[in-house]
Amino acid sequence: MKTELISKFLEKYGHEPTANYFTPGRVNLIGEHIDYNGGLVMPCAVTLGTWLSMAPNEDNVIRFKSLNFPEEHEFPVQSSYTKTGAEWYNYPLGVFNEIIKKYPLTTGLDLLFFGNIPIGSGLSSSASIEVAMAYALNSYFNLGYEKIEIPLLAQKVENEFIGVNCGIMDQFAVAFGETDKAIVLNCDTLHYKIVDCNLGNYRLAIINTNKPRKLAESKYNQRVAECQTALKQLNKEISLNNLCELNADKFDEYNHLITDPIVLNRATHVVNENDRVNQAAKALNSGNLTEFGRLMYASHQSLKDLYEVTGAELDAVVEFCSDYEHVIGARMTGAGFGGCAIALLKKGQEDDFTKKLTDFYTDRIGYAPTIYISEIGTGASVI
Ligand code: ADP
Ligand code: MG
Repeated sequence: MKTELISKFLEKYGHEPTANYFTPGRVNLIGEHIDYNGGLVMPCAVTLGTWLSMAPNEDNVIRFKSLNFPEEHEFPVQSSYTKTGAEWYNYPLGVFNEIIKKYPLTTGLDLLFFGNIPIGSGLSSSASIEVAMAYALNSYFNLGYEKIEIPLLAQKVENEFIGVNCGIMDQFAVAFGETDKAIVLNCDTLHYKIVDCNLGNYRLAIINTNKPRKLAESKYNQRVAECQTALKQLNKEISLNNLCELNADKFDEYNHLITDPIVLNRATHVVNENDRVNQAAKALNSGNLTEFGRLMYASHQSLKDLYEVTGAELDAVVEFCSDYEHVIGARMTGAGFGGCAIALLKKGQEDDFTKKLTDFYTDRIGYAPTIYISEIGTGASVI
């Protein structure tokens, strides 16, 4: 990929890049809908990602080009930028806007991006391009940002410059992912642990349901509100900052305080899912992939029955996986209501799996999924 990008750079700019970077996309392996309840998520970087080549220019402009989008643009080097609209280059432009507040740019730059993350399907191509730009500027100009500041800066850009209210998990995983490792992260405190996640004879299959995600946002907000209701009712007798402070036993003791059965279901998912993340980290630590796979299925079941965020498309994928002998675990990943599922698939079965799942899913749902096979890859890096 690097050689290809370098020759495209040469073609577009007439000179070679002087630095090249890679940032991955990410999936969340387990720990779903608990980040806003003080719980643990367990994302990892995938081998799909964003490549960035760059070189200084003498023209005092920043030139943005991407092999994924036809729009190209150049901005003069100046002391701040404002969002121009919905064009892709606003993501890296927002990063410049943030960084130059502290470190004014001393030269123009020619930039070329290329990504093979499916855009807009929940693998976080946006975090990938933001972190790519921030990581590249920090590294190229030796700006001295601390490691933790890069994902935080990228998240700030997505929240404030782009206007998307995302949490920190995506940028964090993209910046800090490591090959054959997962990250156990508390999104509130930013405490994190890198844990072994060697998939051995298995690979990660990522299945995009290709379902248009229309109602996702309002349903998401509804789930957040339901968790707040549960917390408020529990706090009549105990004092909690968030639901994930309870383990399953403690929850059993107090859950009679939750009056609405639906809210009780939501809270039950949250508490159990947080426990599952801890169990998953233990299973991975002892190399027990079968147990890890079982926890993935349990997570999906809970998201389906108790949290009600799966839907026919994600359920069809996981149903197929549970009947397919070469998959040992599968679940939806991300907010749900569409988007992607992940599965642990035995090496060598990629073609068979892709064909059989595509037939099964198309028959059931009426259109095909898109399937990607990935490893657990590295985070932001110089290449
Ligand atoms: P995702 O779920 O993939 O993060 P988003 O809608 O949040 O979806 O972000 C996708 C946007 O990020 C694209 O529409 C584009 O503006 C920008 N983007 C991502 N990757 C690239 C790339 N390789 N080149 C240019 N822009 C990109
Ligand atoms: Mg995004």
